[in-house]
Amino acid sequence: MTLAALVDLVLPATCGGCGAPSGSVDPRRSGSLDPRGWCRRCAERVAAAGPVRVPPSPFLPDLPPIVAGGPYEGPLREAVNAYKEHGRHGLAAVLGDRLAVAVREWVPAEPGSAGCAGVLLVPVPATAAAARRRFGDHMARLARRAADGLSRAGIPTAVAFPLRALPRPDSVGLTAAQRVAVARAGLRLRAGRVAAVRDAVAAGVRPVLVDDVVTSGATLDAAAALLRAGGVPVAVAAAVAYTPRRPGGADTPRSGS
Ligand SMILES: [Zn+2]
Repeated sequence: MTLAALVDLVLPATCGGCGAPSGSVDPRRSGSLDPRGWCRRCAERVAAAGPVRVPPSPFLPDLPPIVAGGPYEGPLREAVNAYKEHGRHGLAAVLGDRLAVAVREWVPAEPGSAGCAGVLLVPVPATAAAARRRFGDHMARLARRAADGLSRAGIPTAVAFPLRALPRPDSVGLTAAQRVAVARAGLRLRAGRVAAVRDAVAAGVRPVLVDDVVTSGATLDAAAALLRAGGVPVAVAAAVAYTPRRPGGADTPRSGS
C-alpha cells in the first residue's frame, strides 16, 4: 500500500476533485471537506453534471445502452485518476456513489414490484498487471461500494465476476476496429461462475455491466457479446464517467482497463 493510500485511510488530506486542502480556510475553494474525499464545491459540481446517457457508437451497433455518472472532466476526472493511478483508495466512496447514481437509472421506480427482483453488477475485470499496479481490482472495489449503497437504498444489489481479463496491449493509437478486436481477444468467461449469473437472471435479477470510464465502448461491447454467448443477456451498462467524443474526431485513446 502506498503512503498516499495509508494517509487516505486516516483522513483525506486534500479534495480528490480540486486538490483543496482539508480544512482550507478559503470558502470559495473548499467549504468543508467531505470525509469521503470531496469538497462541497466539487460534490455539487459533479452531482449537477450527471447522470448522463452515453451516445451510441456508430462502430458498435450491439453495444448496450450506457448511463454514466457524468462526463470525464473536471473534478470527476481528477478523482478517477487519483483513485486509479495514485492510490487514493478512499475515493472509492464518492466514485462508487457516482456509479450507483448511474445504475439507479436502470432500476424501475418500484424495485421488486415491476419485474425486477434485484440488480447484479458485472464489472469489467482488471488485468492481473493492472490489479498488481493498483493494489487490487479497482473496478471490483467500486462495484462493491455501489452495490452497498444501492442495497441500503432499498434496491437489493450484488456483484458477480463471470469475466476475466487476459494480458493485452495498450490500445492507444489503435483504430476503432482494432480496438474492438483487442477488447474481444482480451476477455474470457469464467465457466464456473457464469451458471450462477444465468440462474440469477432467470430468477428476475437485472444484470448491469459496469466500468469506470467509457471511451470507445469497445470493452463494454466485448463484455456484452461474451456474456450473451454464455447465455447471459445483458441489456444495459453503467459507468462512473464517459469521455465525450470529439465532433468529427477519433475516440480519445483509452488507458488502463
Ligand atoms: Zn474540491
